[in-house]
Amino acid sequence: MSMFNPVDRLRRSARITIALYRISQAMNYLLRERGKVRGLSPAQIQTLLFLKYARPGVRTIGGLADRLVVSYATASDVADALERKRLLQRNPLPTDQRVVMLALTEQGEHESAMLEDVLDEIENAVAALPDTDQEALVRATQSIIRYLQVRGYVKVYEMCWGCQFFRRNAHPDDPRGPHHCAYVDAPLPEQNTYLECPDFTPIEPERT
Ligand code: SF4
Repeated sequence: MSMFNPVDRLRRSARITIALYRISQAMNYLLRERGKVRGLSPAQIQTLLFLKYARPGVRTIGGLADRLVVSYATASDVADALERKRLLQRNPLPTDQRVVMLALTEQGEHESAMLEDVLDEIENAVAALPDTDQEALVRATQSIIRYLQVRGYVKVYEMCWGCQFFRRNAHPDDPRGPHHCAYVDAPLPEQNTYLECPDFTPIEPERT
């Protein structure tokens, strides 16, 4: 079966797959066009947004390679290019000089702020749908993403609030943070709970 063959698009699942493909083409187009304006490649745009929103511990070349789903060498090349543009800097970890962390420079922070709205047109199209359609889309797309995630085609980064390992207000008086991550068994300051984490594991929907 081939969803690219128009005859096969009589199947509903093929029509939906083609629709998702077209949406991904539109996203790539928007990233490329913004990149032309800002002088950045789509990978560089994704890197700047990754460094802005990812959990601090994963802001490394390895973490970037995971996020972009590319090799370590390719991620390193992307970081080099951003470093040359003075948007990114490499900082050895104070507690272990062998570990190099990536961070946005002030200019990089500014540049990433200029990229925030790159996919707004897609959200505008979604926001125009009736509530019931949006709710159905949330359920359906989450289920598709879970299927793809289990097979290793996509890595999902999400923030703590919907994660199985998140223990809200586990130790409210702890100066290191009131919440707790049971995955790494460490306290979580409030602001870190709004960052994206590759270890995010969704809360299982309740079975009835
Ligand atoms: S594993 Fe879950 S709770 Fe822990 S930092 Fe990641 S998202 Fe937050």
